[in-house]
Amino acid sequence: MAHIWQGLLKEYEQYMPDYLKASTLGDSVVTMREGSTPFLRASFLEEITGASKVFVKYEGVNPTGSFKDRGMTAAMSNAKAKGAKAVVCASTGNTSASAAAYAVRAGLKCAVLVPDGKIAMGKLSQAIAAGAHLLQVEGNFDDCLNLARKLSSDYPVELVNSVNPARIEGQKTASFEIVDELGDAPDIHCLPVGNAGNITAYWKGYKEYNEAGQSTKLPKMWGFQAAGAAPIVLGHVVENPETVATAIRIGNPASWKKAEAARDESHGLIDSVTDEEILAAHKLLSTKAGIFVEPASAAGVAGLIKKAKAGEVPAGATIAITVTGHGLKDPQWAVRGLDGVEVTPTKIPVDEVAAAKILDL
Ligand SMILES: *Cc1c(COP(=O)(O)O)cnc(C)c1O
Repeated sequence: MAHIWQGLLKEYEQYMPDYLKASTLGDSVVTMREGSTPFLRASFLEEITGASKVFVKYEGVNPTGSFKDRGMTAAMSNAKAKGAKAVVCASTGNTSASAAAYAVRAGLKCAVLVPDGKIAMGKLSQAIAAGAHLLQVEGNFDDCLNLARKLSSDYPVELVNSVNPARIEGQKTASFEIVDELGDAPDIHCLPVGNAGNITAYWKGYKEYNEAGQSTKLPKMWGFQAAGAAPIVLGHVVENPETVATAIRIGNPASWKKAEAARDESHGLIDSVTDEEILAAHKLLSTKAGIFVEPASAAGVAGLIKKAKAGEVPAGATIAITVTGHGLKDPQWAVRGLDGVEVTPTKIPVDEVAAAKILDL
């Protein structure tokens, strides 16, 4: 009989700290059987880069459509075990979608704090659908995070933003899955960087699995920020970050120092990619590999292509790239490019020959 995947906390119990072990948590384990995401060979990237093997870790197929679910199973289980009444997050995107769904399964209230001004309700549709309390705070994003912190220190409320250390523990399991599939660590790991929790988590995972004897080497971590939101690359906070890649539109990353540590300890790099490069990679992923992602998710692929053009990708390398979230999160970019031109269907008469001619059959 096939092994039925039980979710991260159970599958990787021995690599969790005591407070997150399934046996400690008991009935408090909150899971949607996240993880075990596809690790797909992307031969078009081998042709472009000259690397011998390139794989894409498709995190968009997690239960709520992004890698955030890996952190959320851990954060939500911990909240439940501690007797929290509610969870809170400051988010307009994938964190809120994940928190809201996992809170339903935990039987906890979920509050999503969003800043004053125009908000994209579409991006919040998953949180709204799950019945989260959407609170629009008269202030900016930092005010939301401060309010969330205060609530969590004065009330039985758990903060589930990426500053919550349980999130990193859950997210590190993506590295384990990659090593399990490859039989060893890759030579290079590429991924997008926003608040930098994920690059921190991957590096922690690779190191711990290596110490446990599951791999013989460690990868170089190659992180990529959007050019309009590249504080780590620039070395200073970006006041008004701008990019189509909304999930990495971050001017002052929460895990800045840890991202630099991952970069330096792994002899890797953190670089930036333009919106044009991101959207080009986004399109290639769909047309060459059948992998539909939201724009931010394509930053790692865009970065690898940029490095290949600069001749910096070693021939013969094995490379893993994380694509972080599903294309249905932000589908407009498939239909409309940066130039604003919309894709339109080709009109034909009700005629078999005309259809065959256009399809070049
Ligand atoms: C959260 C998120 C990111 C950024 O991850 P960080 O841990 O903040 O660096 C990238 N892509 C998607 C789709 C995300 O949801």
